[in-house]
Amino acid sequence: MKLTLQTQLLPTPDQVCALEATMRAFNAAADWLAGEAFTRKTANKRALHKLFYRTLRERFSLSAQMAVRCIAQVCEAYKRDKTKRPHFRPFAAIPYDERLMSFKKLERVDGERVKGGSVSLLTLFGRIEVPFIMGSYQAQRFTAAKGQCDLVRRKDGKWFLHLTIELPDGTKTPATDFIGVDLGVANIATDSDGIRYCGEVVEACRTRNLDLRRSLQKAAAGRKRRGLRPKNIRRKLKSLAGREARFRRDINHVISKSLVKKAKDNGRGIALENLKGIRGRTRFRKAQRARMSSWAFHQLRAFIEYKAKREGVEVIIVDPRNTSRTCPCCGHIDKANRPSQAEFRCVKCGHTDHADVNAAQNIRSRARALLVTP
Ligand SMILES: [Zn+2]
Repeated sequence: MKLTLQTQLLPTPDQVCALEATMRAFNAAADWLAGEAFTRKTANKRALHKLFYRTLRERFSLSAQMAVRCIAQVCEAYKRDKTKRPHFRPFAAIPYDERLMSFKKLERVDGERVKGGSVSLLTLFGRIEVPFIMGSYQAQRFTAAKGQCDLVRRKDGKWFLHLTIELPDGTKTPATDFIGVDLGVANIATDSDGIRYCGEVVEACRTRNLDLRRSLQKAAAGRKRRGLRPKNIRRKLKSLAGREARFRRDINHVISKSLVKKAKDNGRGIALENLKGIRGRTRFRKAQRARMSSWAFHQLRAFIEYKAKREGVEVIIVDPRNTSRTCPCCGHIDKANRPSQAEFRCVKCGHTDHADVNAAQNIRSRARALLVTP
């Protein structure tokens, strides 16, 4: 199965000139050759090679391998519809194969994921080494990248390489849609389908334990309460903490299992916020911050991640900034969009939703945006 990854090139002005000239020459050659192919009614590579290879090299200054690619490109285009003469625009995408390009330096994040580097591209003026950057969606799949690329110049003048990669049979289909998951306090997890995994049960257990714990602590401080010696009190406190942890662990298992199953059942991936944003996020007021134990968040995430991996469900991490303040309808970002803990109400367009559902939907759309932009 084939998959296209898009990476952005960052050429210097000189390199832009070289790339543009190459692209123009290649497409001028292709356009001219398409006319010849159409007149002769032939889409045969060998025949066209025999007739026009020299001309492509001399008249259009194409390198040997570029002339070969040019002939292949024209044959393919003409084969698609033999009733028409194919045309090539001056800045149409041009193919780069392994002989025309190679990745040079690769910069890695965490020692594994590629975030950028440089790629060597053959131009009319020789090889140039152009820096490139890669988004996290691309980087997560880059290890598999091999094969043909297209050099693309977008209308806004930005340059891209589209890498077509061949995934071995049996590889899971990369997700094209995601379940956005928002982690919180009132709702431990909320997904972009609108399902809230409630924190009430956990919270009730926690509060009950907390009351017990407080009174035990008091007793331990007083040291003279009947029946309980400090040693016993400490033991009791420890067991309470253990019970709470086990309870939360069970809940986290149930939630992660259900999310991963749902994602797998309809071929979606799971999108989570970058954890760094979660603890520092302003939408948790002080009182709430005290109530959330970060280990529980870490644990739920870890459960989701390992279960997803086991089931072949893709997990994507997105930027958490403003997910709770952004309107999914009009894009307006405002603190006032969130009048209360549970409520989202856009001050600009009036769109309303449950606040956590809204955040989950923003997480989903961020994941989807990663599919198309690096
Ligand atoms: Zn709005």
